[in-house]
Amino acid sequence: MQLKDLKKFIKKEDQRLRESYGNYKDEEKRILARTVKLTEELGELCDEVLSYVSLQRKVKLDKHDKNNLPGEFADVVITTLLLAEVMKVDIEEALKGKIKKINARYKK
Ligand SMILES: [Mg+2]
Repeated sequence: MQLKDLKKFIKKEDQRLRESYGNYKDEEKRILARTVKLTEELGELCDEVLSYVSLQRKVKLDKHDKNNLPGEFADVVITTLLLAEVMKVDIEEALKGKIKKINARYKK
């Protein structure tokens, strides 16, 4: 998958979400809802990480499915991109700028 495919999916999902929630027309509400959703998804990823390193209660570890981990990473990425979309952040430009900045840290 290329970034352009992901961006296309995000635009489509943004539209579907707008159509699914009648109260989704208020931009501030959408920003706050997606921020809360991101924390929810981050919590689910953290839960998977804790299970991955066996730092959960035995009851949880017994029910744990390690195949869930990649999906939780994907949820965090998708939810982050949906938040960026509603806040009109060009994620491709943001990533380019950030990668350039990080690479510059290692140049002598
Ligand atoms: Mg999730």
